[in-house]
Amino acid sequence: MKCDFTMRYESIQAKTLLSKPIYGDAWFHSNRSMNSYRGCEHACVYCDGHCQYYRIDNFYTHIRIKENAPKVLQRELERARFQSQRKMQSDTLVRFLNEQDKSKVLDKGPRKIIIGVSGGVSDAYQQAEVKYRITRQVLETLHDFRLPVFILTKSNLVLRDLDLLKEIHKQAFASVCFSITLHDEATKSIFEPKSSTTWERFDALKQIRKAGLFGGVMAYPIIPTVGDSIDNMLGLANEAKKAGAEFILFAGMTLKPGRQKDYFFNVVRRQVPQVYDDLQKIYANNHTYGHPIFNLLPVHPGLQGRIVCQKIGISDRSVRHMPPGEPEANVQVINRLLDLVYYRQIILGKPRNMWKPYQDFAIKIEKGVEDLRNLSDQDLLEERLGISSKMAQATKDILKHGTFKGLTRTQEELDTIGASLKK
Ligand code: SF4
Repeated sequence: MKCDFTMRYESIQAKTLLSKPIYGDAWFHSNRSMNSYRGCEHACVYCDGHCQYYRIDNFYTHIRIKENAPKVLQRELERARFQSQRKMQSDTLVRFLNEQDKSKVLDKGPRKIIIGVSGGVSDAYQQAEVKYRITRQVLETLHDFRLPVFILTKSNLVLRDLDLLKEIHKQAFASVCFSITLHDEATKSIFEPKSSTTWERFDALKQIRKAGLFGGVMAYPIIPTVGDSIDNMLGLANEAKKAGAEFILFAGMTLKPGRQKDYFFNVVRRQVPQVYDDLQKIYANNHTYGHPIFNLLPVHPGLQGRIVCQKIGISDRSVRHMPPGEPEANVQVINRLLDLVYYRQIILGKPRNMWKPYQDFAIKIEKGVEDLRNLSDQDLLEERLGISSKMAQATKDILKHGTFKGLTRTQEELDTIGASLKK
């Protein structure tokens, strides 16, 4: 499909860059996000960044380049390092570190900051990056601070920075995930007209993984009636596995009322009129956050995704990584707790009290607690962390068996629903 976009690029000065911390995120590996650009030339038809909420006019065609982003980032990280060191000096947990460990910790700067360089309202590797190289400079800053990075992109331009990403991975970690939603290139070119092709993205992922970096596939949004066919989802999972992805996470599409939804349906009416009426019904509720009418969905992408992943032999859950120096046991426990949160909250739609306590504990760990394995071995989990005996038992089980009762029960429930779907 030919795209008729007249582009305008404008340099702007950012006042701030990093988002507020978000802990216990069951989707992404990061706890802060930032955007080097405002607006996104990739022009995906369903893009959430296009909605009025972000107040970015001409989102697809007027790209604002945050020229001073690397400098602002440096300033904000220096401030975070200062605050982090002050906090650590007064933190009671420091009592549990011996003097040698303490100096190592203080050296690390702003601990636990994992920055997602694509904040969701722009792609860090859109076309403007070829010329302006803001993302490259941002990575150089993260490298100077010895911080890890999480990248989510639809572009193989990220390979240009592989040298730097490898350096970052050596001293912290680099996780490069690709958003890939449509296996068929012709359909992809309708809904994601200007990003790298599906094949180019899988190929880039293969190179990322071959270079030893972390990486996976975020297969969302899965467009109902367009991307939710078993062929599309199996095709994506298969390619993800072949590319060496750590996981492929399938999830659905939201369409917020207003310009996001209007533009989407405008394109659907012209390009794929055969699915227009069905999609109109699915999104007829004009939900503020853009949620579909769930019982009208042909399939639940998360549920079907789980079936597909089991068939292919790849994880259906994103993997969290932690910077070096963080206890491995803590990362393991966070991952399993957030698996439960994701399944119960997002896929099964369970009430808040059935997943929130697990998320709260994951947040607590992510913000910084002692090595859970040591606490578990000494039977001090409840006393030191102020958690319930149930949560302490879950922690012990994860550390001993790799999972815990609440999670296995939830997975069994998903498998039962999955089995009925397969019939
Ligand atoms: S690449 Fe991401 S930010 Fe850019 S238009 Fe597509 S969905 Fe939006």
